[in-house]
Amino acid sequence: MSKLMNAKEYEESLRKLNLQVYMFGRKVANPVDDPIIRPSMNAVAMTYELAHRPEYEDLMTTTSHLTGKKINRFCHIHQSTTDLLKKSKMGRLLGFKTGCCFQRCVGMDAMNALSIVTYNIDKKYGTRYYTRFIEYLKYVQENDFVCDGAMTDPKGDRSLAPHQQKDPDLFVHVVEERKDGIVVSGAKAHQTGAVNSHEIIIMPTITMRAEDKDYAVAFALPSDAPGITYIMGRQSCDTRKIEGMTIDRGNMHYGGHEALVVLDKVFVPWDRVFMYKEYDFTTQLVESFAAYHRQSYACKVGVGDVLIGATQVVAEYNGADRASHVKDKIVEMNHLNETLYCGCIACASEGHREPSGTYLVDVLLANIHKHNVTRFPYQIARLAQDIAGGLMVTLPSAADLASPEVGRWVEKYFKGKSDIPTEHRMRILRLIENLTLGTAAVGYLTESMHGAGSPQAQRIMISRLVNMEGKKTTAKELCGIEKGDHLS
Ligand code: SF4
Ligand code: FE
Repeated sequence: MSKLMNAKEYEESLRKLNLQVYMFGRKVANPVDDPIIRPSMNAVAMTYELAHRPEYEDLMTTTSHLTGKKINRFCHIHQSTTDLLKKSKMGRLLGFKTGCCFQRCVGMDAMNALSIVTYNIDKKYGTRYYTRFIEYLKYVQENDFVCDGAMTDPKGDRSLAPHQQKDPDLFVHVVEERKDGIVVSGAKAHQTGAVNSHEIIIMPTITMRAEDKDYAVAFALPSDAPGITYIMGRQSCDTRKIEGMTIDRGNMHYGGHEALVVLDKVFVPWDRVFMYKEYDFTTQLVESFAAYHRQSYACKVGVGDVLIGATQVVAEYNGADRASHVKDKIVEMNHLNETLYCGCIACASEGHREPSGTYLVDVLLANIHKHNVTRFPYQIARLAQDIAGGLMVTLPSAADLASPEVGRWVEKYFKGKSDIPTEHRMRILRLIENLTLGTAAVGYLTESMHGAGSPQAQRIMISRLVNMEGKKTTAKELCGIEKGDHLS
């Protein structure tokens, strides 16, 4: 019987890890209970919590195609377009439940990409990566692990290939080959959910050529393997979390995190190596991971739902909800958000079966979806800030509301509708601030821009994947430049 951990068991499983985590220049002795990291752990825990709720069972769990056992969908290899659709819906659901990045998608996307590419490498070279990967996948499924799918290297000078960099560690690479495995060094930057993960799956970040073959490696490590260090990224307003459970947090329980993951001569046994110098498969691995992760930005639709809800609430608290321009702006926000939803549903339903049996999303449509994600959340956030008003950023602190000296002035002058407590108005404004300027804006805005590839990466894929010749031919046929079959 494989485990289907609940939120508490997940938390306890993290306590057993011996992670080397640094934040504000100090080692974090207990990441699970650290007030800045904890909300991000809570968000991942939601992926476990919902798996045990009957109403979400169909979305959150499925049957392993390897063992026939019930598993969390985050550990699943998509076996149909229905699986892909459920993945998109699961992303929206979890974004809606947490109002932030819940971090677990990167591992799911890495495993699905590896299930395709390891199979294809074996077909060409007669290697045994797929068998190794399947054994590893069973281990992940059996333990219901969170995996950090790690792709982005620091990259140093962008004009230089990995082997040309002055510092060879700016891309993860092999430093030693041993009988029992390999030793690797380098780092992965802005790794979502890294310190909430049991495992870390490393992949190359760009197409590698023959000269870069030492950089063409993919492998998995326990997150607390010797030689791994995590350095937490800062987020705007992060220290509000150490002020306790005040309303200034905006989102009281959930958040995301990113970290720099440093690999300093880390040993990887052969059974955890899934690509070793097959540089001609790096493009396929990067592009399939990117396509899956671009689909995963269904999460932003769920976070958008929260922001739209918060904006409607503040409009009501302000007594402005019946103004026609406010109603129209809320419609616009919903239009943008549901348009995003169309994209992640479309790329899933147009998915196809790869030779390994894994279903991959329609890559063009996944790129279109992610490209919309680099824009629409910013437009939705702009409208939210428009309706919320400047008070969102000029509001005094929760401590001022509680102050015996000035609390009554805060209470009196920040009241909106007379039947709504001032505190409620402050809370909803803080949530909008959190989503559009604070810790959650990392996930809702900047990550929408750069996560799973910056906008230009999608534009390159779009120009490569659209059938331009077909479009030109039909245009020419229709106006009589070329004779089509159907024309006389
Ligand atoms: Fe998942 Fe979205 Fe976070 Fe990426 S940004 S890990 S897709 S929740
Ligand atoms: Fe991301």
